[in-house]
Amino acid sequence: MTVRAGREFLAIPGPTTMPDQVLQAMHRPALDIYSTEMVELTEGLLRDLSKLFATQGKSYIYIANGHGAWEATLSNVLSRGDKVLVLESGRFAIGWGQAAAAMGADVEVLKGDWRRAIRPAEVEERLRRDKEHTIKAILAVQVDTASGAYNDIEAIGRAIKAAGHPALFMVDTVASLGCTPFEMDKWYIDVAMSGSQKGLMTPPGLGFVAANDRAWEAHKKADLRTPYWDWTEREGSEHYRKYAGTAPVHLLFALREAINMIHAEGLENAFERHRLLGEAVRRAVSAWAEGQVLGFNITEPAERSNTVTTVTVKGADPAAIQRYAKEKCGVVLGTGIGDLQGQAFRIAHMGHVNAPMVLGTLGVIEVALAALKIPHGRGGVDAAVQWLGENVKA
Ligand SMILES: *Cc1c(COP(=O)(O)O)cnc(C)c1O
Repeated sequence: MTVRAGREFLAIPGPTTMPDQVLQAMHRPALDIYSTEMVELTEGLLRDLSKLFATQGKSYIYIANGHGAWEATLSNVLSRGDKVLVLESGRFAIGWGQAAAAMGADVEVLKGDWRRAIRPAEVEERLRRDKEHTIKAILAVQVDTASGAYNDIEAIGRAIKAAGHPALFMVDTVASLGCTPFEMDKWYIDVAMSGSQKGLMTPPGLGFVAANDRAWEAHKKADLRTPYWDWTEREGSEHYRKYAGTAPVHLLFALREAINMIHAEGLENAFERHRLLGEAVRRAVSAWAEGQVLGFNITEPAERSNTVTTVTVKGADPAAIQRYAKEKCGVVLGTGIGDLQGQAFRIAHMGHVNAPMVLGTLGVIEVALAALKIPHGRGGVDAAVQWLGENVKA
């Protein structure tokens, strides 16, 4: 017997649930890619992406996932042999750094830990030791989707400034843009990137990059540039060059609708919704953790992200919980990846999420824990309900 029927619910950190309006926005013929309507669609999206990144700088749209957008950032500003400092807080900045190494950069990892966020003081200390300014770029993620860490990018930006270091500060917001405050210009960020399929509720396939004037100065000398990613190529007067070829028309229709939805809700409200729902998840996990089997991967509460929660499982099989949730109840939880493979599951709460989705997901996890007889503190869902009841004012 199962209690699943109808639409399966994706509680994985990407691709996330796409709103019906976003799906429906694609159900129309393509545009003439030389039409005014096409040009205006692109211009509006580029303007709105720069607003989402909170920058006066320029934005670029690539037909690519996040890995593609990583290559876009690196190839536009780096030259072969340039030194890059990667700030570790889990898996994703490391992956970005591996791409940089494969492209010919000299990559150093500032050792972090899978269980905590980046320490800004350690960044400052490392940069102060680089008296010759050999480090050309610093890579960090705002949210590490594997560990569940939330990095204080503002504090890291201040640490870089305090060290008086000129390296470009490059930030990955794939698992946070549109969900968590992000201030590219105010936080001294030179290059930011993101993807369509997580907080932005759009099908996978679009990558976004924003660059400021400092990044553009580096771009002029960069020798890793290649035609598809190249910003200069994309600044040509013909609209066609904005995509280095045919525009991904339908994905752009979807993105337009998703950004319209964010505007209708209000970006600040979207941030607050993520904060409230993220804390609801944490309240539940805290209750379950009393059973000594489940726990938070990120030890410091302030370093837990509002978009994904990584739950460690000791003495039981996380895959059994995931299997039960999916096969019996129709909820797909994220898998533990990287260092946490086989030792964790992840609950995504980013993008198109609301109270019933989150409470339903938490409820299904509690059902799985009961069915599998996994020891856990009682009342996880109740704690989440109490939190929302106290904080979502009547
Ligand atoms: C998902 C993710 C990526 C990679 O994006 P893909 O679209 O899967 O290539 C990069 N960084 C972070 C923080 C992510 O969550």
